[in-house]
Amino acid sequence: MKFQSVRGMNDVGDKDIHLWRHVEQKVRKLYEDFGFSQVITPEVEPTELFKRGVGETSDIVEKEMYTFTDRNGDSLTLRPEGTASVVRAVIQHNWMYENSTLKLYYFMPMFRHERPQKGRFRLHYQFGLEIFGVADPGADVEVLSMQSLLFKSLGLKDITLQINSIGDNSCRPAFRELLLEELNKIKDKLCADCHRRMDKNPLRVFDCKIETCKSAVKNMPTQLEHLCADCEKHFSGVKSGLDNLGVKYKINPHIVRGLDYYSRTCFEFTTDRIGSQGTVCGGGRYDYLFEEFGGKSTPAFGVGMGFERLLMLLEDKKADAQPKPNLALVYADEDGRAYCQKLAYKLRERDLYVDLDLEGRSVKSQFKRANKIHAKYVIAVGSREVNESRGKIKNMATTQENEIVLGLEEEDLQRIMEEVRS
Ligand SMILES: [Zn+2]
Ligand SMILES: [Zn+2]
Repeated sequence: MKFQSVRGMNDVGDKDIHLWRHVEQKVRKLYEDFGFSQVITPEVEPTELFKRGVGETSDIVEKEMYTFTDRNGDSLTLRPEGTASVVRAVIQHNWMYENSTLKLYYFMPMFRHERPQKGRFRLHYQFGLEIFGVADPGADVEVLSMQSLLFKSLGLKDITLQINSIGDNSCRPAFRELLLEELNKIKDKLCADCHRRMDKNPLRVFDCKIETCKSAVKNMPTQLEHLCADCEKHFSGVKSGLDNLGVKYKINPHIVRGLDYYSRTCFEFTTDRIGSQGTVCGGGRYDYLFEEFGGKSTPAFGVGMGFERLLMLLEDKKADAQPKPNLALVYADEDGRAYCQKLAYKLRERDLYVDLDLEGRSVKSQFKRANKIHAKYVIAVGSREVNESRGKIKNMATTQENEIVLGLEEEDLQRIMEEVRS
């Protein structure tokens, strides 16, 4: 019996894992340089958490969750997104108690029963960030500028930041009434999904993917035109903060987050390189979620970034991402082999990536292999080199060979390490 992975759920290995690891480390490093620390939450949560945190009317909750009943009869769900779990953890462990500002990031698998297609999987990884405790637009600016820096440092130039403000509890209710009034006038042009959205979350009609709906709502009033003075000031703060750092952005009043606990800034980083949607990452402010979860009122700003989608944009970096050994050791006979084994062991102990054949291959095919895996240097050792304690080290790029003392004392190891790191 041969088994296959579940549809829409991928293995990552072989030639793909190097780019994965390279980018993962880059993202982590940048996030940590900005003072974010990692959080890991369980893959499974009570179903109710996501109904509350993602919203009963969202596509995720309505159509895409992996929900099951466990042996105790409890309804559990495989995590479809990260924020609900992280906020749950922060409240549960009282992490805001000692921190007036809390900066967390996660890198976790998410599960959604979507129709698998390019860039959309049923299991996908997400990097996410959350800043808790900061109402000031400075938090928004820090996260947006950091994401922008990330794309720049990965060499991605064709990504656009689009921002919007969706108001707060003081200006949104009146706008909602106004929008609903206008939507009712064009109701017959909207799809059944949009009719439902009008009942529950009229703002979400701007999210509809259907072309006729898109053009029907094009001239509807937007929240951005109806912000209260405080929201106006906040949005100005975001814009001037980005200007100050030279981060480019476009204002798009149709970027929305349809749930009541979202507020003010929302954003997307988009590209036209990956399919119709093209969103690489998105998020925004959710100042009312803590209360929704029974916590103390806490301003919050978050980002979610689909990791596989990011990797799709970096396909051309694959070859560079493959780790290359600093040194390959080639042995000519048994004496040479025994020495190489000891030398490799000691150099690896000193954090050097050393390659050594395990199969007893010929010198020629060992050299061939060193070439194939792009070893930077090669030292070839036989019984003569072992007896004389000297040999040659070859720079594979320039093919230049230098004499080198071969030994196993600390000074010998240091000399070899200096040579291969130069
Ligand atoms: Zn629609
Ligand atoms: Zn407002």
